[in-house]
Amino acid sequence: MQHIAFIGLGNMGAPMARNLVAAGFHVSVFDLAPAAVASLVEAGATAAASASAAVQTADAVITMLPANKHVQELYLGAGGVLDSAKPGALFIDCSTIAADVARQVAQAASERGFAMLDAPVSGGTAGAAAGTLTFIVGGSAAALQQARPLLEKMGKNIFHAGEAGAGQVAKICNNMLLGILMAGTAEALNLGVAHGLDPKVLSDIMAKSSGRNWTLEVYNPWPGVTDGTPASRNYTGGFGTALMLKDLGLAQQSALSANAPTPLGGLVRQLYQMHAQAGYAQQDFSSIVHMLQPGLQTPAA
Ligand code: NAD
Repeated sequence: MQHIAFIGLGNMGAPMARNLVAAGFHVSVFDLAPAAVASLVEAGATAAASASAAVQTADAVITMLPANKHVQELYLGAGGVLDSAKPGALFIDCSTIAADVARQVAQAASERGFAMLDAPVSGGTAGAAAGTLTFIVGGSAAALQQARPLLEKMGKNIFHAGEAGAGQVAKICNNMLLGILMAGTAEALNLGVAHGLDPKVLSDIMAKSSGRNWTLEVYNPWPGVTDGTPASRNYTGGFGTALMLKDLGLAQQSALSANAPTPLGGLVRQLYQMHAQAGYAQQDFSSIVHMLQPGLQTPAA
């Protein structure tokens, strides 16, 4: 498998595609934003004029798009990628979307004789750049076996969650928990700071106590506590509030379809809805701390 088509070169897709170029694959790239394509061409990829042109001679096609509608349009729309790929091409969609849409697209691929995996990721933009993402895969074991050499160049953990759509179910469970943990971590830090505690000292204490979690240790929402996080660069880059809100909505839809109670997931979706409407949709999701403490700034170096 030498020739890869990569479609969707945003915060996540661009560094993932860069890692495939660096690993020696021939990578054809397409994005609706010409600047995103130009940046990958500088790294050694080949620009394609359209998604269908990108996939024509590819052995594997990787897509990393924002949401359901983008994936449905690209795969199922007239002149979509399933109409242009060569026989035997493997499709891997890494976007976070609804499990039923992932199953619908995989079914359409299968009807045309293509194997397809849903392979959403965890690990954020830093994990994408470092090639340490976690891939959460739904689809056949045989297709995953075929995809492994590619996924291993972009990530370090690869989990097989089950058949088509199972990767998306597992991912949405993870992101609902992530949203709850981020809102809870922001709330605990804000309470401590309101009592005069240093947020870094409080974070160090909780990171060695039973409140320990990823948003506290790796992705702290308080500015200046952890170097290199979105909170330390005024909430730019990272995982946008709008994308977290989308994932929390997917979690609620999944909860409804399975009759599973998700009271905290429902509450945190409402918090993120209000936060997005307050003007934070494009900022990193850790900016939820501003809902409790408006105007927090990254301290001057
Ligand atoms: P992004 O908005 O930065 O990038 C999406 C890219 O897709 C954009 O460059 C856009 O131009 C492109 N695009 C949209 N429609 C297209 C089409 N039809 N053809 C070609 N290109 C198209 O989003 P992102 O942060 O890279 O996230 C991508 C997916 O990964 C989302 O589903 C998100 O939920 C998920 N995710 C993101 C993170 C994160 O930390 N950012 C982490 C894990 C998972």
